[in-house]
Amino acid sequence: MRLGPRGERSNRPNREDTGDVKPNPCRMSDPRSRREFIVDAGRLALGAALAGPLTALTQATPPTKVDWNQLARNLDGTLLMPGSPAYTEATLIRNLRYAKNLPAAVASVKTARDVATSIRFARDHGVPLVTRSGGHSFAGYSTGPGLVIDLNGMTRVTVDPTTGRMRCVGAATNEDVAVAGQPHGRAVAGGQCPTVGIPGFTLGGGLGFYMRQHGLAIDALVETEMVTADGKVVTANRAEHPELFWACRGGGGGNFGINTSFTFQTFVVPAHVTIFSLTWKGDACARAFLAFQELLQEAPDGLGAVAHFAVDAQETGSPTPTLRVFGQVASMSAERTERMFARVEARAKPIERLFRSETFWAAKEWLAEDTGPPNAFAERSRYFPRPLGRSGAEAIVDALSRAPVRTGNGLSVETPFFAWGGAVNRVDPTATAFYHRRDLWLQAVSASWSLEADPEDVQRLREWQDTFYQRMARYGSDRAYQNFVDPRLKDPLRAYYAGNLARLRRIKRAYDPGNVFTFAQSIR
Ligand SMILES: Cc1cc2nc3c(=O)[nH]c(=O)nc-3n(C[C@H](O)[C@H](O)[C@H](O)COP(=O)(O)OP(=O)(O)OC[C@H]3O[C@@H](n4cnc5c(N)ncnc54)[C@H](O)[C@@H]3O)c2cc1C
Repeated sequence: MRLGPRGERSNRPNREDTGDVKPNPCRMSDPRSRREFIVDAGRLALGAALAGPLTALTQATPPTKVDWNQLARNLDGTLLMPGSPAYTEATLIRNLRYAKNLPAAVASVKTARDVATSIRFARDHGVPLVTRSGGHSFAGYSTGPGLVIDLNGMTRVTVDPTTGRMRCVGAATNEDVAVAGQPHGRAVAGGQCPTVGIPGFTLGGGLGFYMRQHGLAIDALVETEMVTADGKVVTANRAEHPELFWACRGGGGGNFGINTSFTFQTFVVPAHVTIFSLTWKGDACARAFLAFQELLQEAPDGLGAVAHFAVDAQETGSPTPTLRVFGQVASMSAERTERMFARVEARAKPIERLFRSETFWAAKEWLAEDTGPPNAFAERSRYFPRPLGRSGAEAIVDALSRAPVRTGNGLSVETPFFAWGGAVNRVDPTATAFYHRRDLWLQAVSASWSLEADPEDVQRLREWQDTFYQRMARYGSDRAYQNFVDPRLKDPLRAYYAGNLARLRRIKRAYDPGNVFTFAQSIR
């Protein structure tokens, strides 16, 4: 889902490309007035249908047409109802498996006050609510049957050149952050998918190619403004609401409130970095992986890398496993980087290799891989605190050679191993809500398919994915990355939060006693 050919830009129209990111013009230019979005009589039944857990908790009354109209009038932004083009655009999500889970309405908010108004409305009327920023939740957690509070209409990114702090308001994306930082020669440790939203990405940790040098996105978070379940706008940092601030650094999106801004301490980008890419096929993949794993354990923090296993589909018979190790090294020449990799190449000769010096921004562009348009996918993940042995590496290659992928059957698989360590691991597992601080790898097992694929093929693909995932259990931990949400996990909260779960539960009870922010894997 992340690491295909380059060029992915959006499952939504582009924003204006300026440092001060304006609300997406397409989203704001719907010619109809707010009144025309007002719910029609036929949709009134929705109110009753929506009366879910919140109603039971608060004894709220389901919203009537008049109530929805009142909400529309109370917003500085716009209430989008089914049938409008803006509603259709606002409900597009990355994982098409969940695209039919459409909301009763979308509050396209403009201010924190709008967010508070929307939360109160949902509480008063027992309407389930979810927050939406980039829409990239693997499990579609930013859509649902009730009210979606969409922050895209308030997006703005600004950099204070004196302090080097960057403030991301609303639903800024990785791309917005890069565009805002470039004129100042500054960056935050963002991810490589341009359209991922900073809110979801940050709340779950935020991994990327700079993390071994600069830490996760949360490690640079200075403060966040958020609206809590009682509709209050609060600032959380080390001094104010410190427990909430702790929870927002890895406690996962959608759990504690709605974060309307994030302020990061940026880093000064190096003038040059070296990008590298080496590819192997077939049995050589296991040897190459083990050789790179040795290098990784001694490599400087400036190395950011992914060991990306995938397959070459064949017309008939088994697909061929491939391994591409790629990434960047900060402040190291191409020649030195090549010398560093010589020991890997000596163990397994790559079929393709590249080492090139680039500017930081050109490298960022090169590393921003295309994931194509939205598709259907399922992803599982696992942390590995210790190096994999030969049998572990061979198990990966063996599993890939059994993937039910054929030319033209619309299925694909990949299993990237994200190189962990460095600055990420120098933070104590309990210093933030992000527990995974002693690992060497994060593996994702990704399966995706076109909506036209044969359902039996898709079933086989999912079985293959589960079998492979289980097979890797003996080599790694039972922890998973909270940003790669996985509905198939038996004990998701333990997998995501491990030793920090009890504290997160206490914070949840303190800030959201009525469980207003709830979804399938929310903290409870
Ligand atoms: C193509 C692709 C590439 C990815 N690449 C990376 C990567 O390089 N590194 C990485 O770490 N992760 C990556 N991810 C995972 C990504 O970080 C998570 O899916 C993240 O949750 C997406 O955030 P979002 O704002 O785009 O999504 P959304 O679906 O809008 O939100 C995700 C969750 O956060 C909640 N949420 C959204 N906004 C807010 C808010 N303002 N306040 C409180 N809760 C909120 C939502 O309700 C939902 O539960 C990738 C995902 C995809 C699909």
